[in-house]
Amino acid sequence: MPARLDLTGQRFGRLVARSIVARSSGEWLCDCDCGNRVTVTAGHLRSSTRSCGCAKRERLAALAPKRLAANTHHGHAGRGKKSHAYHSWDAMIQRCTNPKFHQFKDYGGRGIQVCDRWRESFEAFLADMGEPPEGHTLDRIQNYGDYEPGNCRWATRDEQRKNSRLRHDRIPMDRRAWRKMKQRAREMRKLLIG
Ligand SMILES: [Zn+2]
Repeated sequence: MPARLDLTGQRFGRLVARSIVARSSGEWLCDCDCGNRVTVTAGHLRSSTRSCGCAKRERLAALAPKRLAANTHHGHAGRGKKSHAYHSWDAMIQRCTNPKFHQFKDYGGRGIQVCDRWRESFEAFLADMGEPPEGHTLDRIQNYGDYEPGNCRWATRDEQRKNSRLRHDRIPMDRRAWRKMKQRAREMRKLLIG
């Protein structure tokens, strides 16, 4: 089994196998391009492990919203007082990028994404969407579409219920969009969870 293989010097993504540490379990000491050293089984090296974990951390960091300037959002997020628009933006990003968020499985887990423009900037989101009227929340027009300009609106609960019935009853999802969504859902789950 794996222990018989000599992987010395072989590269697996960012990892280079240096020496075997446990013949019984086939574990190899590997150098990662980032400078970390990790122990990985030969089985994992040959199937999926491609870094010490740094690659995944980088992908997650790239997905996360830039929150540094949160306090400068024109009073939307200053000192404990967050506007409705800001809450909507924040929750949208959580739903799509945070596997620990309770609604993630229905959004990010299904491949629904936030467009780069909105993910990276609350101000861009606000500029495109405007302030929500009283009693309105963020709604996606096409159920399989992303959070992006053209597919979002502020809607009342009633309007959303109506739209959600329409989605189920009258707008059959076309097969290409369905396949695309499933494929993206797989990619997102792999990226964020697996
Ligand atoms: Zn690394």
